[in-house]
Amino acid sequence: MKGLSVVLPAYNEREMIPIISRELTRRLEQEKISYELIFVSDGSSDGTWEEIEREADENSRVLGLEFSRNFGKDSAIFAGMAQARMDAVAVMDCDLQHPVDTLVSMYRIWENGSEIVEGVKAYRGEENFFYRKGAGWFYHILSRALKLDMEDASDFKLMDRKVVDSLLKMSERHLFFRGISAWAGYRKTQVKYEVAERAAGKSKWNWSSLIAYGFQNIVAFTTVPLQFVTVGGLICFLGSVALGIYSLIRYFQGQAVEGYTTILMVLLIIGSAIMISLGIIGFYMGKIYDEVRRRPRYLISRMTHRQEKGEKT
Ligand code: UDP
Ligand code: MG
Repeated sequence: MKGLSVVLPAYNEREMIPIISRELTRRLEQEKISYELIFVSDGSSDGTWEEIEREADENSRVLGLEFSRNFGKDSAIFAGMAQARMDAVAVMDCDLQHPVDTLVSMYRIWENGSEIVEGVKAYRGEENFFYRKGAGWFYHILSRALKLDMEDASDFKLMDRKVVDSLLKMSERHLFFRGISAWAGYRKTQVKYEVAERAAGKSKWNWSSLIAYGFQNIVAFTTVPLQFVTVGGLICFLGSVALGIYSLIRYFQGQAVEGYTTILMVLLIIGSAIMISLGIIGFYMGKIYDEVRRRPRYLISRMTHRQEKGEKT
């Protein structure tokens, strides 16, 4: 179907649902773009679901899904994409930090033949210094590891139907949307947008969730940390050869060292290198275990009724 599906992950966004729904409806109707809005409530506990239901009752182009618990934004995005029926599918936050004007221009760019239109942050809004540095560092590492440019990437994207279909075919459980769409290739266009202030509610991230998110996605995306283990091993090996030769020379010179401190240091260094390495390997093993269990990415507990063509309201 020619038109635009907008996927909106929402976690405890009660106040935002009616605002964004009305804003999108008004704007897309004004632009004469045929559309559907897909709200995915990610296990919200503040009445977000009731708001979504109300919007769906009022407007047959609104579809709502509710997860059985919080599965994370990426899962919500994939659940929404799986429901999307239109030829272009956009993903945007429902806090109005992703401007609706940009969405419209992304749609126009798609009409002119782009397969992925990416929103790139021009100004990161009122993020604090550490957050900005942290995010910058994270994307820098990912960009290097993936050999893809991911800096300033965001989840604000518009994709062609064939891109969506190919992303939905990926079988891994832990999918990092931002990374996967960079990895997928296709004809891309970037659109700069100013990150607006959050219109209501508050950000769902805190420090520990951001750090956990960072690690999860690095592991999901690259095996470079496993090479750190090898490199660490090599460095230890070179050190031990040098130290070995040195000790032997001293021994034959008849002045073997009183090596308590040396032995202690070597033990401690090697011991911690081994533990850290085991930790890295263990983390990957855990992820492999998660993947082989083949559990579903999310569980849907409720869904609004989709009005089929010709059906009376
Ligand atoms: N979100 C979600 N599940 C989560 C956390 C966030 O679906 O576990 C949604 C949230 O409702 C919002 C979007 O993801 O629509 C971005 O979240 P937020 O605004 O908190 O992040 P920030 O803009 O601060 O990066
Ligand atoms: Mg936000």
